Amino acid sequence: MVIVVDCGLLISPVDNRDKITIVNMTIFPSGTMNQPTSLHFLGAGVAAHVYALVARDVLGPHSLHITMLDRTHDVPDRTLCVWGSSSSSISAAAVAQWKYVRLGYGDQSIALDLGSMVYSQYTAASIRALADERLVVSREIGNATGPSPEASVSLDSCDRGVDLFPATISLLQHFRGWRIRTSRAIFDMEVATMMDFRVDQSHGVCFVYVLPYANNEALVECTVFSTSIWDAEQYEARLKDYIANIIGTSGYEIIATEVGVIPMTDRVPERLHGPSWIGIGTAGGLTKPTTGYTVARCVRDAERMMEAYQRTGEFAVPAPPPGRFRWYDKLLLRIIRDEPQEVPSILWTLFSRNPIEKILRFLDEETSITDEVQIFWSLPWRPFLRAIIRG
Ligand SMILES: Cc1cc2nc3c(=O)[nH]c(=O)nc-3n(C[C@H](O)[C@H](O)[C@H](O)COP(=O)(O)OP(=O)(O)OC[C@H]3O[C@@H](n4cnc5c(N)ncnc54)[C@H](O)[C@@H]3O)c2cc1C
Repeated sequence: MVIVVDCGLLISPVDNRDKITIVNMTIFPSGTMNQPTSLHFLGAGVAAHVYALVARDVLGPHSLHITMLDRTHDVPDRTLCVWGSSSSSISAAAVAQWKYVRLGYGDQSIALDLGSMVYSQYTAASIRALADERLVVSREIGNATGPSPEASVSLDSCDRGVDLFPATISLLQHFRGWRIRTSRAIFDMEVATMMDFRVDQSHGVCFVYVLPYANNEALVECTVFSTSIWDAEQYEARLKDYIANIIGTSGYEIIATEVGVIPMTDRVPERLHGPSWIGIGTAGGLTKPTTGYTVARCVRDAERMMEAYQRTGEFAVPAPPPGRFRWYDKLLLRIIRDEPQEVPSILWTLFSRNPIEKILRFLDEETSITDEVQIFWSLPWRPFLRAIIRG
């Protein structure tokens, strides 16, 4: 650690003698002064690039030395969406943005104004490209087995299989989507469909997600919460049905396909693997069990970690959100597992009976207990009571 005393020279107007006055005193982590802070990433996926970009903004680009070790150079073709303000360390990597989000259930659909927020889409490649533009990253290929002794901190996106709390429920969020181009202009470019439950609900909780890129082009994705993944035909039957009956067209071509699986579990992995060896990303438990959203949580976690380092000169695991949020997730996971037929109406009620901004803060685990009482009051309570009793 280096203590810097910032001195100002004052000329006294009374006796004209020079006086040295201490204006400011700042404590710098050792890395930010003489030698750079070195961040070593085990795994160079989405989280690694997010933490590197946040470190640049908080600590400054010239004080960083960044190394990344991954078993592959390939970047997955992955669509990543995030709600929130349009100014964060990764905002410049956004490839599309929407002002409204739509939900559908039964014979209704609503478009909700996000107000000061936006729903932004990134890709794994756009986040990596931004990091390469703003930072010098030294990349290596290989199996990442342990921390680098030379680094100030080793940030690990590889699952080390060590749990703080083992899983009591393990489900999957799995999806298959088509990027389609329609013969007519039918999409509203300002509205992203977040969850439309107006599809067959047999074999798992199922909703369709629509991200329009042009008035005749969109990603239409069939997303399922269940215990096992489906055959391609099961997703495709629902996609065809949705495009024909809800979007309302038969004239389209499929220009790309996206598939994916995200774990939905109450498992909490251990994040501190050793001194200055910290788990990040999905392996660090930053995937929200009930939604799969990870990227915004990585941005916030990285901000807390880098700001604390700037203050203290030490890298540490940021404090987790209050434990009650894990309990809420566990209850919803139990309902998804035991009473999937209840889930569409619960989620529809959640969004349609509460201000959208409050629900998004709730999903970001940033609401107060008073907010949460109001939110739970608005929901059908019987499935939650049964989930509590079942344990
Ligand atoms: C298809 C899909 C869509 C998603 N959509 C969203 C979304 O819209 N919004 C959102 O917030 N989240 C989303 N997620 C969840 C999450 O944001 C992503 O999974 C994200 O990629 C997680 O980042 P990560 O760095 O933890 O993992 P990854 O990006 O998977 O990176 C892990 C890296 O570690 C490397 N690695 C692993 N083990 C080793 C080893 N032993 N040695 C060397 N390298 C190793 C891998 O090769 C990989 O490059 C999505 C996930 C998927 C699968």
